[in-house]
Amino acid sequence: MNMDRPTRIAFLSEHASPTAILGGADAGGQNVYVDEVSRNLACRGYTVDVFTRRDSIETPEIIEWGPGVRVIHLKAGPLQPRPKDELWPFMPEFRDSFLEFMQRDEVHYDLLHGNFWMSGWVAVELRRRLGIPAIQIFHAMGKTKRRHQKKVDTSPGDRIKTEMEVIRQVDRLIAQCPNERAELVDDYKADPGKVVVIPSAVNTRVFKPVPREEARRRIGLSEEDNVIVYVGRMLPRKDIRNIVRALAVLLKQDTGSTNASCWPITFLVVGGETEEPDPVATPEIGELQQLAAELGVTDFVRFVGKRQPNELRYYYSAGDVTITTPWYEPFGLTPLESMACGRPVIGSAVGGLTFTIKDGETGFLVPPRNPQALAGRLHDLLTQPGLCEQMGRAARARVEHEFTWPIVAMRTAALYDAVLAERQPETLLVESLQSGWPHADALNLVPTSHPGSKPSMLDDAFPGGRDLGAS
Ligand code: UDP
Repeated sequence: MNMDRPTRIAFLSEHASPTAILGGADAGGQNVYVDEVSRNLACRGYTVDVFTRRDSIETPEIIEWGPGVRVIHLKAGPLQPRPKDELWPFMPEFRDSFLEFMQRDEVHYDLLHGNFWMSGWVAVELRRRLGIPAIQIFHAMGKTKRRHQKKVDTSPGDRIKTEMEVIRQVDRLIAQCPNERAELVDDYKADPGKVVVIPSAVNTRVFKPVPREEARRRIGLSEEDNVIVYVGRMLPRKDIRNIVRALAVLLKQDTGSTNASCWPITFLVVGGETEEPDPVATPEIGELQQLAAELGVTDFVRFVGKRQPNELRYYYSAGDVTITTPWYEPFGLTPLESMACGRPVIGSAVGGLTFTIKDGETGFLVPPRNPQALAGRLHDLLTQPGLCEQMGRAARARVEHEFTWPIVAMRTAALYDAVLAERQPETLLVESLQSGWPHADALNLVPTSHPGSKPSMLDDAFPGGRDLGAS
C-alpha cells in the first residue's frame, strides 16, 4: 500500500456490470452490489476500477462511472452478450486483458475484490502474480445451486472445484448473511476465521415510501384493489408460479366465504427481458400466463415488464405487500427495497430472507413451494390494513438502521484495511493501529486467526487455460 495516494481497488466482476439495465436474466442483485459498493467506497476515499467483460463493439473501454470509479471493459471472448454460464472459458483472456491494461495504463492496485466465482478465479491468479491481497464475494454457491436446481443447473462443471480453490487461496471471504457463512464453512470447509459477514443493502434515497394513492396514480392502477407485488428476475427458481397458485387458493377460499375477503386483488409482476412484457423474450412470462389461465386467475395478474430502479419505488409503494418465495435465495435485495418503501414482505424461509425479513415484525416467512401457507399469510395481511401499515413502518426502520450501502462500504473498508495492514512491515502496522485507522476489530470483523499468505496456486491443482469447458 502506498501512503501517498488513495488505496486503489481492482473490483473484478466478469458479468455483473454496474452499467447494465437491470431486470433481465443475468442482470440483478450482483450488478447493484458492484455499483453501490464501488461508489460508496469512492466516497470513503478509495479509488475503484471495476473490471467487467466487454460485450459489444460499441462499448468504450473505459467509462468514468462516478467520482473515483471507472468501469473498464476487458476483451474476454466475443464482443456480444453471452449467458454468464458460458463465460468460464474466457477467464484466462480476462486475466490477460487485465494485466495488459494495467501495464498500458501504468496503474498499480493495492487489493483485488472478486465478485462471483469466475472472477474469484481471476482474482486468485492475479493475487499470485501481483503479490497483492484478494477478497472474494461469491453471491451464490455452486453446491447450493446444484442441490436446488439439480439437472437444470447450467453452471460449468468446474464451478465447485474452482470455488473450493478460491476459498483456499483468497485472504478473506465476504458472506452476505449467516446462512452463506454456514455454506462456506460447512459445505466448503472454509476456514471460519477467513469469513466475514457483511450484509448487502438498499439505497434508501432511491427506495423510499410514496403515498399509496400517488404511487397507484403514477402507474395507472385502480385505488380500490388490494395490490400484491413481485419484483425481480423472471427465473423458475424465483417461483413466481407459487404466488399465482396462492392467488388461486385465495380465490377459492374467499368465494362464498362469510369471512373478511381480500378481493379484488391485482398481482403486479415486475421484471423480464423487455419493458413491454413479452412471453417470447421472457419464457417464464409465458409459463406464468399459462398457469394463471389453467387456475382461472388470469384477470388478476398484470405483467409489467422490466423497470429501472428510479421507477421501482412506485411499484413497491402501490402495493399493500410484496411477495418473494424463491426455492432458495443467497441474499435477496428486493425484500430490502420493498421494506425501504415501507411495505411489508412475505418471503420464503430460505437463505438471506430468513435474515432480512423479521417474521411477524416486518412481514412473514413462509415455507417455499407452499401456496396454502402463502395464501394464509396474504389473507392475514390483506384483511388487516392496520397490521400491513405497522409492519411497513417497522420494515423501513429496520432498513435505515441496518441495511444501507454506506454501512456496507464502511465494513468493507474496515476489512480492506485489516487485510492490507497484515501485509505491512510490523512497525508500520503498529503505527497505523495507533494512529486510529478504521479498525475492523471495532466492527467485530477481524477473524480470530489470520490466515496469512497461502502457497502459490499450482496450475495442476487448479487448471487455468485447460479443462475450462462447461460439462
Ligand atoms: N430489478 C430491477 N428491475 C426489474 C427487476 C429487478 O431493477 O425489472 C432489480 C431489483 O430492484 C433488485 C435486483 O434487480 O435490485 C434483483 O436483486 P435480488 O438480489 O433481489 O435478486 P437476484 O437478481 O440477485 O437474484
